[in-house]
Amino acid sequence: MAVDDMARMKNILLVICDGMGDRPCPELDNLTPLEAASTPNMDSLVKNGQSGLMNVIAPGIAPGSDTAHLALLGYDPLKVYSGRGAYEAAGTGLNVQKGDVAFRCNFGTVDEELKVTDRRAGRISSGTDELAAALNGMKIEDVEVVFKEAVEHRAVLILRGPGLSADVGDVDPHEVGAMILTSKPLKPAGEKTARILNEFTKRSYEILNEHEVNKKRRDEGKAPANIVMARGAGSPPDVPQFSEKFNGLKGAAVVGISLVEGVCRVAGLDIMKVSGATGGLDTNLNNKVDATISALEIYDFVLLHIKGTDLCGHDNDPKIKAEFIEKIDASVGRLLGNLGGTKDELIICITADHSTPCCVMDHSSDPVPILVWGKGLRKDHVETFGEHAAAKGSLGHIRGVDLLKILTGLAGRGEKLGA
Ligand code: ZN
Ligand code: ZN
Repeated sequence: MAVDDMARMKNILLVICDGMGDRPCPELDNLTPLEAASTPNMDSLVKNGQSGLMNVIAPGIAPGSDTAHLALLGYDPLKVYSGRGAYEAAGTGLNVQKGDVAFRCNFGTVDEELKVTDRRAGRISSGTDELAAALNGMKIEDVEVVFKEAVEHRAVLILRGPGLSADVGDVDPHEVGAMILTSKPLKPAGEKTARILNEFTKRSYEILNEHEVNKKRRDEGKAPANIVMARGAGSPPDVPQFSEKFNGLKGAAVVGISLVEGVCRVAGLDIMKVSGATGGLDTNLNNKVDATISALEIYDFVLLHIKGTDLCGHDNDPKIKAEFIEKIDASVGRLLGNLGGTKDELIICITADHSTPCCVMDHSSDPVPILVWGKGLRKDHVETFGEHAAAKGSLGHIRGVDLLKILTGLAGRGEKLGA
């Protein structure tokens, strides 16, 4: 690559506000939270840049945060997604490998007949590391068990060995009073995995029921965490790493929740740890912005994920959602201010992974607004950042899986086809 090409290449900052897209809210005079919020910093990027709408996965599909982030990183989830287990496991820091089958798990409480009496083992909050250690490393047939505790009553399980498949049903019956399920293969390929998972579940009861941590819990009148209930089997996609996919683009992520962290890890992004980042409305946005700026000194691509907007949508809290968007905008202001002149060497994109309309209280298929700014790029006539205004923008209507191609192209890092 010629030196002048290098000089023209820009870095990319992608800010993803989880579930920010919305619908008109009666409480906000029929504006969306993004439209009702005062967002001078994002508006200035829109005014001097381009905007549009994005179907993150495909028309009519309400994305999960995992599938949405896969798409936004250039991987088509309709082709590569097999369940959230692999991303949950990677989000706890485990190295999920090709061929692994991973599960989300709860420590639960069962009686002697394996009837569930508590799906969260009395909301156990300590000792799960010792319980996990008693299960981790177990061998069942030729399959290795990797097991790790996560937050509170949660844990992740990886089965590693030949001939495994994510086509298996859950062990977790998802309700109190029900019997622990026998995992069934959903396709013939899942037969071995189901057998191993059922054996693991049986052994988890035998080992945990007698464990010191649980003896102590019983003495204290607490529910013992005496079984592992696995669900949501998934395998990591067999895909090229992010840097391979995008011409050596070196990427990092500053993320709000472990599920999104897992997707970023599986794609091969480095994870920046940020103190005070909670994934809630109380998250320390200043620290996240500062970590983003530091990462941009080393990496070509940085993904900044902010979770709070999604929570407000699930809780049907349009006013709080608008207020949180104003905080995000202030963070964008801090970012632009502290980047100084280096922002001219950046392509900045701000968008959402999906809509979480307050009136729906869940993710929806409504396309999300997107803005792209870069010094010297074309501008359109849109003046503010919002769902309705973005519909008139020059980016038009794009697909999530095309986003990185568009951004790398604008950053001078795309492919040239032909002479
Ligand atoms: Zn999300
Ligand atoms: Zn959500």
